Amino acid sequence: MKIAIVTSEATPFSKTGGLADVTGTLFKQYLRMGHDAYLFTPLYRKIYEGFSDNLEDTNLELNIQLGIDIKPCKILKHKKHNIFFIGNQEYFGRRELYEDTSGEYPDNGARFAFFCKAFLEVIQKLQISFDIIHCNDWQTGLIPLYLTINLKEKEIFSKTHTVFTIHNLAYQGLFPPEILGYIGIPYDLFHLEGIEFYGHVSYLKAGIIFSDVITTVSKTYAKEILTPDYGFSMDGILRKRANYLYGIVNGIDYNEWNPATDPYIPYRYDKRNLNEKEKNKTYIIERCGLNIEPQNPLLCFVGRLSYQKGIGLILSSLDDKLINKVGIIILGRGQFEYQESISFLKQKFPERVFFYNGFNEELAHLIYAGCDILLMPSRYEPCGLGQMIAMRYGNIPVARETGGLADLIEDGVTGFLFKEYSKEDFSIALKVAIYAYKHKKLWNSLMKEAMSRDFSWEKSANEYLKLYSNLLS
Ligand code: ADP
Repeated sequence: MKIAIVTSEATPFSKTGGLADVTGTLFKQYLRMGHDAYLFTPLYRKIYEGFSDNLEDTNLELNIQLGIDIKPCKILKHKKHNIFFIGNQEYFGRRELYEDTSGEYPDNGARFAFFCKAFLEVIQKLQISFDIIHCNDWQTGLIPLYLTINLKEKEIFSKTHTVFTIHNLAYQGLFPPEILGYIGIPYDLFHLEGIEFYGHVSYLKAGIIFSDVITTVSKTYAKEILTPDYGFSMDGILRKRANYLYGIVNGIDYNEWNPATDPYIPYRYDKRNLNEKEKNKTYIIERCGLNIEPQNPLLCFVGRLSYQKGIGLILSSLDDKLINKVGIIILGRGQFEYQESISFLKQKFPERVFFYNGFNEELAHLIYAGCDILLMPSRYEPCGLGQMIAMRYGNIPVARETGGLADLIEDGVTGFLFKEYSKEDFSIALKVAIYAYKHKKLWNSLMKEAMSRDFSWEKSANEYLKLYSNLLS
């Protein structure tokens, strides 16, 4: 089966969040399983700066038409694998992927329309006829649309099917209707049943409507997004396509996230030598300049500082009384107001609270290994990788029962779940976890259970492959 994964980010080349982990690792998993997989992603500045030794020129140079503009496109390829990087200095030669300090890049609509068009032209130039084109999130939502309206008759696409995975419904790729002419989409698609979304063009909606099947990243989230509470106003259109919507939970990269071999952590361990984990705790406490009694748990948060992640709940629950019984390490970047509030908390409790404001892969590994309890009180969580990584490292999640958190954490066995998004419910779950932590035998059994669960990609990759096969048959 010839499979193309098309994505705006993929580890190890580019990453702002879980999307990169998922696409990068799924691609590797397909290769491991012997499938003929290809990956297509933009050539960001960071990639040609950081990976130039691994890249070769394909000598493919295209001209992509956007309105009356002709945009040059250069294609680089990974030396070893079928990973193609779609380059354009103007659009992707920037420091960040989607935004800078003043907000989202104003031309994101043009940038990712360019990416979608360029992908479709590249594969025609390369004469690769894919069985499956697997698109991810709004940045690739126009691919199924362009295929349907422009390319269906072409021989090269005669057996091609499209899969569109929603990693987070909140990001909808919304642009003013004036963009339609520029990106080559007829105005007669701009209506309620088409790609109009409250007066805007939505690239996500294009993917939902025009793909052969839609998937999202956990079974619970696949059900949640059909409801107004979680549907971000897309629930109506999703309900219409509910028969084509599947939930397939993500996995994590077991080579990268393995406490027994992790090069980032000073003391490697598995579930048979958990006292080594304890040493990582001492190490990170020192490194972060904290002062916490050994009988008290070390809590942590790793993730985007965004509305979704429930930072407000963490901040409101960490009152003076609780903070004196724990330590907490927060690693994240994101919304200014959360940064401010966390910095304030750190100033107030310098020996109890550590905050790293930014993205730091090494510190993330140290935190997962050295801390005891991971906080994930998300308002919604399509899948979530943090809880899987944490469990693999014997770091017990306290999480809201939603999306992938509900699917992957067994309450009282591998973590603690709470239902309502409220300070009360979260505080109770946290108190139960802290109580459990004080009972060494109980805590050890929680850690061992959590570390025994299988979150490797193989199972999920097989589910995708089954779905692809069903489409082809
Ligand atoms: P989302 O995709 O919503 O951001 P996920 O839980 O699916 O959340 O995935 C987030 C991934 O990014 C995890 O691997 C997490 O460890 C990592 N991550 C998030 N924020 C940071 C950060 N500031 N520094 C290092 N790693 C981070």
